[in-house]
Amino acid sequence: MSSIKHHFPDAFPVTDDCLHIGGMPLTRLARRVGGSFYAYDRRLLSERVKHVRSMLPDGVHVHYAMKANPMPAVVQHMATIVDGIDVASRRELKVALDTTISAEEVSFAGPGKSECDLESAIAAGIVLNLESNLEMERAARIGHELGCRPKAAVRVNPDFELKSSGMKMGGGSKQFGVDAEEVPEMLRRMKNLDIEFMGFHIFSGSQNLKSEAIIEAQEKSVDLGIRLAQHAPSPLKILNIGGGFGIPYFPGEMPLDLAPVGEKLGNLMPKVESEMPGAHVVIELGRYLVGEAGIYVTPVIDRKISRGKVFLVTAGGLNHHLAASGNFGQVIRKNYPVAVGNRMNGKEREIVSVVGPLCTPLDILAESMEMAKAEVGDLIVVFQSGAYGATASPTAFLSQPDVTEVLV
Ligand SMILES: *Cc1c(COP(=O)(O)O)cnc(C)c1O
Repeated sequence: MSSIKHHFPDAFPVTDDCLHIGGMPLTRLARRVGGSFYAYDRRLLSERVKHVRSMLPDGVHVHYAMKANPMPAVVQHMATIVDGIDVASRRELKVALDTTISAEEVSFAGPGKSECDLESAIAAGIVLNLESNLEMERAARIGHELGCRPKAAVRVNPDFELKSSGMKMGGGSKQFGVDAEEVPEMLRRMKNLDIEFMGFHIFSGSQNLKSEAIIEAQEKSVDLGIRLAQHAPSPLKILNIGGGFGIPYFPGEMPLDLAPVGEKLGNLMPKVESEMPGAHVVIELGRYLVGEAGIYVTPVIDRKISRGKVFLVTAGGLNHHLAASGNFGQVIRKNYPVAVGNRMNGKEREIVSVVGPLCTPLDILAESMEMAKAEVGDLIVVFQSGAYGATASPTAFLSQPDVTEVLV
C-alpha cells in the first residue's frame, strides 16, 4: 500500500518547512484571512492556461467552464487569459458578464433553463447551448418578444461515450443535450425560427486522466460535428468538442499527458478547416485550469487519541470541502493529498485521521494518512482544491462558520 503514493503538486514552494502561496508563508496568509479558507494562486492559473495553449494546436479556443470555480475574482482573472467563459446558470452568467470578456464569448449550457434564464441570456447576446426542442422554441419566442435574435448552438448528446471517465455526460440516454440522431430534424425546424445558428456543443464527460480516451472522444466529436454540419441552416462558427481533462486527486493517479492530445488534435485540424471553413474548435475546461491552483486551509482545533488512533479535529470539514470528504460522487472514499502546511516534512511523522467539526462520521478530510505530527493551531492543507470546493459544499450544514475564498 505504501508504494501507491499521492501525486503532490510541486507548484507551491516550501521554505523553512512552511508552504508558500502567493509569495507569502501560509502561516502569514492564515493570519491575514482568519479561520478556514480557500486560497487560489493567480500565477498558477495563468501558467496553466499558457501550458494548455502551448500543447494545443493554434486556432483552438480555450474556454473556462466557471462552475468549477465561480469566485468573481477568479472568473475575472480567467476572463483576461481565456477565449470564452461557459456558464451553467443565470447567476454565473451575471458574474461572467461583470468581467471584461465580451458577451459573444460567453456560452450558457444546462438542462432546465427557465424563462428568466433564457431572457437574460438572449438580452445579453451570449450563445445559448440548446438542450431540447422545447428550449429552442422558447428561445425563439423570447427573442421575438425582446427584439433580439438569439444566438444558439445545439448541445448534442453524442452516440458514443468518453471511456475511463470520472463522470460520463454523454452517450446512451442522458438529460443533457439532444440525441445526435434527433439533431437533423431539430436543425430543420430551426430554419423556420428566428435564431442565429452558431454550431455544436458536444460534451462527453469529465475528470479523465487517460490521453487515449480523450483523443478518441475528440476524434469522434469532430466526425459527429462534420456529419451533423450537413444539416445545419448556416455554416458553423463554433465546434465545441468538450473537455474532460482531469487532474490527479488520489493515490496512484498520474497527471494527464497533454502532448499526445495536442498532437492528435493537430492532425484533425485540416479536416475541420476544409469541412467547416471559418469554424472555431473550442475546448471547454473547468477543473484542469483551476483545480491545482487552489488549496483549502483549516486550523487544527483539537488533537485526540481514541484507542490508539490519532485524530486531528479541524475548524472546517465537509461543510467547506465536500469533495475532499469523499461525499461528492466518490463510490469508495479515498484521501485527497493532505499535509500540515506549516510542517510540510516535520521532525516527527505519524499516521492520523483529520476530521471536521460536524456531528457526522462522514466528516473526514483524511483517513489514516501519514503526515507531520501536528499540534493545535497548525494548518491542515488540502491540495487539488481549486475546483468544486466552496460552492460545491453544503456550507449551511450545522450552521458552522462560513469559508472565506481569497485570490492571491
Ligand atoms: C461541468 C462541465 C464542464 C467542466 O468540467 P470539468 O471536469 O471541471 O472540466 C464543462 N462543460 C460542461 C458542459 C460541464 O457540464
